[in-house]
Amino acid sequence: MARRHRAQDAALKPFVFTGLASRVVFGAGSVRELPAEIERLGAKRALLLTTPGRASMVSAIGKHLKVAGIYDKVVMHTPIEAATEARNLAASLNADCCIAVGGGSTIGFGKAIALTSGLPVVAVPTTYSGSEMTTIWGISENNLKKTGRDPKVLPRVVVYDPELTLDLPAAVSAASGMNAIAHCVEALYAHDGNPIVSLMAEEGIRALTSALPKVVADLGDLEARSDALYGSWLAGSTISTTSVALHHKLCHVLGGFGLPHAETHSIVLPHALKYNSDAAPEAMQRIANALQGKNLWDLQKGLGLPMRLADIGMNEADIERAARLAVAAPYPNPRKVEYDPVLELLRNAWEGRRP
Ligand code: NAD
Repeated sequence: MARRHRAQDAALKPFVFTGLASRVVFGAGSVRELPAEIERLGAKRALLLTTPGRASMVSAIGKHLKVAGIYDKVVMHTPIEAATEARNLAASLNADCCIAVGGGSTIGFGKAIALTSGLPVVAVPTTYSGSEMTTIWGISENNLKKTGRDPKVLPRVVVYDPELTLDLPAAVSAASGMNAIAHCVEALYAHDGNPIVSLMAEEGIRALTSALPKVVADLGDLEARSDALYGSWLAGSTISTTSVALHHKLCHVLGGFGLPHAETHSIVLPHALKYNSDAAPEAMQRIANALQGKNLWDLQKGLGLPMRLADIGMNEADIERAARLAVAAPYPNPRKVEYDPVLELLRNAWEGRRP
């Protein structure tokens, strides 16, 4: 019997859908379309953004573009000092667009520049974080990451070229892919979700769940790399217009303790899913369909990712503080966010217990 979709199973509830205006160019070799895309924007003085490790690859891309300069000092979590340096460089060069080639960190710098200058951002994502499809920006100051949503920071053009991801190491591929799955999972039970976003979320989980094990087994598998990028595009699109819930709240709290972003998402996700399992049955059914018989904990283990918060630098003494912070200002969540079960969730994630 053909699988029935949500709209056929349950009465459609009222919803609001916001369509965001970004142009997506997808496919192996599509980075060669970048000059034409920049031309379409009318930009003549682009500022290229990259991490130090990717600078030579990004300079090679820049040879085919009208480039005013390159900022190659991108670091994780967009510290305000570095963001200010990049903003000043864009202003002093009289740049008319930013091209971010890299993962969520690099795209984060493009967004930081756009936030104060309104410069258009062109993103060429090379990980699976999904940041390129969102209006969410984040800037760190005094050990706190401030985040917000602003349509100005949404990349105007996104060029997805799986060939640029072929040298993305297994650990970053797997962790950023799990981060993307987390966006899809929370979109499926978001209080402000809608049927279109749910379709994208289910398809995003399906694409990433099938692709990530193949990517990790063979980093040069271009087909699997394409599927993973497709999944991360869908994943970014889902949290772009829906709210995130307990899982993202916990990861934001833990990020404040200095834990690595994508790995934290990967470890917490199966536990957050269990927390909400009885409170969001329809979402759970759709997640199970998309996982095609797998479960997230086994997927994560099979990808060789760390399984315990203890293994990625969390001190046991911080578990209670994290639970208090998560409960103090909770995001809307299907199940009530309460101290004791959240503490249990965090302890299980710290110890790496199978949920
Ligand atoms: P990242 O951007 O920090 O990249 C990790 C490392 O991989 C870097 O050293 C980078 O140089 C390297 N790298 C990237 N692409 C590569 C490639 N193709 N080959 C070899 N090395 C490569 O990691 P990430 O997980 O993509 O991003 C994490 C950041 O993104 C966090 O700060 C997080 O807050 C942010 N994020 C934001 C959103 C949003 O919507 N605003 C969504 C998800 C993540």
